[in-house]
Amino acid sequence: MSATSFLIGYLFRWLPHASATGLFAVGNPDDLSPVFVTANFSLTVRRVRKALRGRDGWLLVADTKGINVWCAAAGGVFTANRVIDAIKVSRLADRVRHREIILPALAASGVDREAISRETGFHSVFGPVHAQDIPAYMNADREKSDAMRRFRFDFKHKLDMFVPMNFPLYAVVAIVLAVVGREALPWFTAVFWGAAAFLYLTVDLIPAKTGWGQAFISAALFSSVWAGIDWIAAGDPLAHWGRLVASFGVFFVAGFDLAGTVSPRRSDAEKLMQRMGFTRFGSQFSERQLGGIALDRDRCIGCGACREVCPVGVYGELDDDRKTTFAAQSACFGCGACVKQCPENALRLV
Ligand code: SF4
Ligand code: SF4
Repeated sequence: MSATSFLIGYLFRWLPHASATGLFAVGNPDDLSPVFVTANFSLTVRRVRKALRGRDGWLLVADTKGINVWCAAAGGVFTANRVIDAIKVSRLADRVRHREIILPALAASGVDREAISRETGFHSVFGPVHAQDIPAYMNADREKSDAMRRFRFDFKHKLDMFVPMNFPLYAVVAIVLAVVGREALPWFTAVFWGAAAFLYLTVDLIPAKTGWGQAFISAALFSSVWAGIDWIAAGDPLAHWGRLVASFGVFFVAGFDLAGTVSPRRSDAEKLMQRMGFTRFGSQFSERQLGGIALDRDRCIGCGACREVCPVGVYGELDDDRKTTFAAQSACFGCGACVKQCPENALRLV
C-alpha cells in the first residue's frame, strides 16, 4: 500500500476503504493452522495482520464492501452469507483439515454462526474484540478474559479516532471558508481542533445523554470563559459576540457523532438519520430501531452466548437456576449482538 493510499484511508476512515478479499497465508501455515476471519476494511486487515505477525495462520477476508467489522455487522453487510461466500470461494475446506474459524467478536450483531455451520460444516467461535489481543488469546488456548470481551473506549482508542473522525468535517467547512471567508479560517481551525480535543478528553466527564448535549455544555463553558476574558480585557463580555455564537456551531460540528465513535453509547448520527426517515445511508446505518435489552427468563437455557458477545459487560454470571443475569443492564447501547446470538430467542431490544 502506498503512503498516499494509507493517508487517505486513515483520514477518511469513516468511509468504506476496501482491501482484497479471499484467503491469505500469514507466515507458513499448514492444514492445521488457525483461520481468522475479518472484514475487507483495509485498516482492519492491516491491524489483524500486524497482530498475527510471527505466527502461522490463515486470514480469510470477507467482502464487506470496505466497511469495518462493527459497522458492517450492524448495517447488515457482514453476515453469515458473506462468510459462507468467502469460505466457498476460497475453497477453505481444501486448505485446512480442521473445521473451525475464528470470527471477530464485533461481527456478532450480524453473523449467524448456525447458518455458517449448516452451509459449510465450519464451526465458528468469536475471538477477542480487539485484534491486538489475538496473541494473548491464542497463547491462552483461545480462552477469553473479560478484558478481551470488552470494547476499550480508552485514551488510546480516542487518540486513534481523533484525527480521522474529525478531519472530513473539518475539511468540508475549511474548504467552504477558503472560498467565502478566508480570514475566518485560522480562527475556525484553532477552535475546531481545540473543541474536538476538549470533547474527546471530557466525553466521560460531562453529564449529558447525547454527544450533542455534551457539545452544547462544552460550548457554553468555552463561551463563558471567552466572554469573561473579554469582560476583563475590554469591559464588554460580548465584544466578540459573533464568534461566541459561531463557537456553538463549531462545537456541534466537532461533536457530530461523539457518542457513537468514542463511547459505548448509541450513535447520535444514526438516531438522527432514523428520525429523518432514513433506514439506510449507504451501508452505514442499521435498519433497526434499537433500544434497551430485556430477558425472557423462561426461555433462557444459560448457554452464556450473550455474555460472550456483549462488548460492554451487560451480563453477569449465571444464577442458581442457570439463567443469565444482568451485571450492568443500563450499559446496553443496543448493538443487538446478544439478541442475534441467543439460540432460544430469550432476548429482545425494547
Ligand atoms: S444467549 Fe440466550 S439462552 Fe443463552 S444465556 Fe443468554 S439469554 Fe440465556
Ligand atoms: S446487552 Fe446491549 S450492548 Fe450488550 S450485546 Fe446486547 S444489545 Fe449489545
